[in-house]
Amino acid sequence: MTTVGVRLPVGFGGADTEQWPRPRTFPRADALERALDVLPGVGPAVKKRLERLGLHTVGDLLGHRPFRYEEPVPERRMAELGRNEEVAISGEVLSVSKRRRGRLQMLTARVTDGSATVSATWFNQPWLERQLQPGTPVRLRGRQGRYGFDVRSFDIGGGEATADFAPVYPASEEITAKKLRELVGAALPKSVADPLPAELKESEHLPHRADALWALHRPRSLAEAEDGRRRLAFDELLLLQVGLARRRREREAEIAPALAMPGELVARYREVLPFRLTEHQERAIAEIDEDLQRTVPMQRLLQGEVGSGKTVVALYALLRAVEAGRQGALMAPTETLAEQHFLTLEEPCRALGVSCALLTSSSLKRERELAPSADIVVGTHALIQEGIELPNLAVAVVDEQHRFGVAQRKALAEGRSPHVLHMTATPIPRTLALTVYGDLSVSEITKPPADRKAIKTAWVTEARSAEAYSRLHKHLDAGRQAYVVCPLIEESETSQARAAEAEAERLRSAELRGYRVGLLHGRLRPAERRELMARFKARELDVLVATTVIEVGVDVPNATIMIVQEADRFGLAQLHQLRGRVGRGAEQSYCLLISRAREDLTDSAVARLEALVRTTDGFELAEVDLDIRGGGQLLGTRQSGLTDLRFAHLRKDRPLLERARAIADELVDVKGPLSDEVERIFTGLDLSAG
Ligand code: ADP
Ligand code: MG
Repeated sequence: MTTVGVRLPVGFGGADTEQWPRPRTFPRADALERALDVLPGVGPAVKKRLERLGLHTVGDLLGHRPFRYEEPVPERRMAELGRNEEVAISGEVLSVSKRRRGRLQMLTARVTDGSATVSATWFNQPWLERQLQPGTPVRLRGRQGRYGFDVRSFDIGGGEATADFAPVYPASEEITAKKLRELVGAALPKSVADPLPAELKESEHLPHRADALWALHRPRSLAEAEDGRRRLAFDELLLLQVGLARRRREREAEIAPALAMPGELVARYREVLPFRLTEHQERAIAEIDEDLQRTVPMQRLLQGEVGSGKTVVALYALLRAVEAGRQGALMAPTETLAEQHFLTLEEPCRALGVSCALLTSSSLKRERELAPSADIVVGTHALIQEGIELPNLAVAVVDEQHRFGVAQRKALAEGRSPHVLHMTATPIPRTLALTVYGDLSVSEITKPPADRKAIKTAWVTEARSAEAYSRLHKHLDAGRQAYVVCPLIEESETSQARAAEAEAERLRSAELRGYRVGLLHGRLRPAERRELMARFKARELDVLVATTVIEVGVDVPNATIMIVQEADRFGLAQLHQLRGRVGRGAEQSYCLLISRAREDLTDSAVARLEALVRTTDGFELAEVDLDIRGGGQLLGTRQSGLTDLRFAHLRKDRPLLERARAIADELVDVKGPLSDEVERIFTGLDLSAG
């Protein structure tokens, strides 16, 4: 995996090492790109273990960020030891002994500093006996307890683990934080080349990169550690932003068909719509119109709540291509979604006399031959992967782009440069939008159409699930429809389908007895799925029992209640998506989340469910999600190569991100070490959206 982690260039200079012991060994000048076995104490076995932590080079190791630091503790003479205060003591081993207390192996060393003697105890580390021979100098951190000094961390020789602000690293069972600390000590360079222009460091109050690394791993205060982290975070964000700025620049050299002003077809489209566009939709449309009249290909991200009316805007963009005598394409990441979109677009297209074709991997040969000549083609990536040419393409809409492979998006644009509108129903926090989607312009629909009532969400434990179902019966008896979502616990699609079938059967004879129940799962053939959805839409079914395949694109305004079983198993974004299937008409809608008892849930599951009950605002939920999960994983939804923001915290570093973005524009053309690092990061990593 490519990382954006700071790769350290070669060259050494000077860093302040007061208090912290100097490393015993330095890697050679070119060693930062080298494998970790250049460090003392790293043989093949340790090397493997480090690799399992994702650490391959010396630079990786230096980029392994401490997740916390030990708090400073006072240094005490042994004669002055009080009870239960965490302190550091230093002295010399007098003797060592071992004994057993039940299942505990206890090791006791008598240690003196001249003022008094303490019995220091370690549990279950019998191997330490050899190291604690009489005469050995030790530094111990811990508390004086009833039976002696309880050692929490200790150093034999130097003071790396017991020091104030000693870093605590993400470790594994195979490799301890102590070992990592030692290795980092050996790897810390005296200096490294610094790609940032000196004026910039000065104006942004950033330390030199080598100092930042020292501060990160050997801080004398938390503030110093934070300064170091901030500098390294800035590097990450800046390199990313410069790369993105270059992408934007490159794309501006591509040519797309400039479309004339909005014409007669889109005017009629506005007329056939059974509603007026909202202010937000109008604004998005105005932004799109502006893009389309340029020869620079549009690269716009349209984001907004589920059901906020993005598809309506997307169709507008497609029709703009059609009225210019060109073609539009809409692509979805799955067949179900493509079919859903097709069902949505088919009707207005027919009313407008615009031909619209569905193209998926299961399309027949004839359909496949005809589709490319339609005005609007709706499909999955099969559209482009199987060599189907859309030579007349002017506008491409890519739905749920974060789930859409970059390679596929690239293939779409190969040899031609359509205007591209990326649609996402997963609201992305502004910080993330700037980071991962930094090469796109953004339109937001932050308010759904006015006649919508906010979905009411309740969290119900299993013990009270009967109440949830009687609520659901009330809706059904009033002529409404419902969804029941069951989680996918099974591994394979086939066993998932079987589990879903069994659950649907169970529901048919229990909670949903007497109602017309359909089952939607990922294993159904496209035609079966289409038929099922059509029946649900035509109210021939009361309840759709579904796995997560209903996530996006299903639009049945008469469905007003949803029950999510085992809701704690779902991610926050996923639950939010699911919930968006109801509340699509003017009626008050409900979402009932069923889970095990609160005590049985993890903290993050509780946080997710509480957030969902509290708000229906997708942007707010996205921020919560970012907090719960941290940035990396969210980033990963777009681009695995960009998951490794090791130092930047997207929430906390928002101002830093904004600075990096502003500065990046000025640095686009800068040559030299900064540019080289950008190249290295972006090489082999395709961020381009077209
Ligand atoms: P999204 O793609 O954001 O999920 P859609 O475009 O599919 O949203 O719209 C969701 C539902 O809201 C559809 O039934 C659509 O017809 C309806 N809708 C869209 N825009 C408006 C509007 N301005 N006024 C009323 N209803 C609207
Ligand atoms: Mg939609």
